[in-house]
Amino acid sequence: MTSNPTLSVNRTSVEWSPLCGRFLVAKSATPGREILTEELPFALGPKCNGPVVCLGCYEPDPDPEEEHCLECGWPLCEDCSRNEDNHHSKMECSVLSDARARFFPLPIGSSHCPQLDCILPLRVLLAKEEDPERWDSKVAPMEHHEEERKKDADLWHADRVNIAQYLRGPCKLASRFSEELIMQVVGILEVNAFEARSSKGYPLRCLFPYTGILAHNCVPNTCRSIYPSEGYKIRLRAMVDLEEGQPLHHSYTYTLDGTSQRQNHLKQGKFFSCKCDRCLDPTELGTHFSSLKCGQCAEGFQVPREPTETDTSWICSSCGATTSNTEAQKMLQSLQAEVNAVQSLENGAKRLEEVERLLRKYKSLLHPLHYIATGLRQLLIEMYGRVKGYEMVQLPDQKLERKAELCRQVLRVLNTFEPGLSRTRAMNLYELHVPLVLLAKSGFIAGKLKGGELRARLVDAIDLLTECVEILEFEDKSSQEGVLCGVAKQALQQLTLSVEGLGSELD
Ligand SMILES: [Zn+2]
Ligand SMILES: [Zn+2]
Ligand SMILES: [Zn+2]
Ligand SMILES: [Zn+2]
Repeated sequence: MTSNPTLSVNRTSVEWSPLCGRFLVAKSATPGREILTEELPFALGPKCNGPVVCLGCYEPDPDPEEEHCLECGWPLCEDCSRNEDNHHSKMECSVLSDARARFFPLPIGSSHCPQLDCILPLRVLLAKEEDPERWDSKVAPMEHHEEERKKDADLWHADRVNIAQYLRGPCKLASRFSEELIMQVVGILEVNAFEARSSKGYPLRCLFPYTGILAHNCVPNTCRSIYPSEGYKIRLRAMVDLEEGQPLHHSYTYTLDGTSQRQNHLKQGKFFSCKCDRCLDPTELGTHFSSLKCGQCAEGFQVPREPTETDTSWICSSCGATTSNTEAQKMLQSLQAEVNAVQSLENGAKRLEEVERLLRKYKSLLHPLHYIATGLRQLLIEMYGRVKGYEMVQLPDQKLERKAELCRQVLRVLNTFEPGLSRTRAMNLYELHVPLVLLAKSGFIAGKLKGGELRARLVDAIDLLTECVEILEFEDKSSQEGVLCGVAKQALQQLTLSVEGLGSELD
């Protein structure tokens, strides 16, 4: 597997173990940020359980009267109709129009369009006919967990009716694709597809046959970026320095969830229970990301004895008091419900103050770095400096200090779970630099900082911005992160100029 014609760069190789199946390793020592491999998708298309979207650019809710394909009648926005190079016209349009398979607009009030669930499986099947060799060598061996999927009888049945029987019946493909093959494709997509964003920012799914076999770990060591402007090519980079032969991992779940949520998500969506170092460690690598404040003593925290088991008990490391998992989960659910209620408030001063109130309240219930507290901090970081009444220019020093402290606490967790090349870290580095610059300037004006101290503070902010730019520079220019990279570069330039302008006379 050393040469691979669909991969233009490849510093990885495939290994196999009875426990994990196929997985990727670094072929040689690779410094952080270096490209490990890049690959074009086998197929891409709309997400499952989504709204009606344009089948060219994935923009949601096209006008059913105006925005549809003139050939087949399926949803296609005006822009995409004008551009024959769109995926819909190149892939499934002729199948749908030849079969006269009609698209039925959603009834008012429903947001999920099951009819579109067949599009990406159909594109995979058409790509299989186009490139049987790549299908046989790369896609067919991908995991699809048929037995586990069948256990969810309702979902299996819905997929069979909405996708397999729909493609073989109304789309008249029964002679080309068996039901078994279609269900295999549905499973391959469910287990292996990556979510991407179109250049307009709308979500979609892509299937990368080689990169898709990356194993999971709750502390990833690779970072993937998908480039809509290059045919949705994926580039996989080393997040941190890698040794020769080191297994490569990506996280298939949200890194800033606690162990029990990650386990649930992986069991339900990916059909396995993760046994990584982070999952097996009751303190989640010393962060105490899931730890609860002990109700029996003043200083202790309760941690799950067996974090990956649903019947674990929780124990305080100071006094030994225990709590059942049922009790612990019940408490967490009630906190989560409170958080959700506050989160759904209109974005403004009231919401910000409510989030601060919850964070104060949870001090007596959760470890300070607990994932619920971390989630609240992320909300606050977004709001301080942006919502009405808390705009950046109006924030007093004490509130600027608050924003900086929030960023540092979130970064403390991210440095453990997503070290190195992480978009979320880059966003937080950017957020942190703003209050630091403003505080340095106001401190200088108020005479609290001398010139040398001012310069030192600004140089700290320059370091943060530099790292932010170095991470985001790899992103597609049109993506949200790519745009932020441009903004950060400008800020970096200005800040560098103002530090140079300070000269040496201030010392
Ligand atoms: Zn479109
Ligand atoms: Zn069409
Ligand atoms: Zn894990
Ligand atoms: Zn205790």
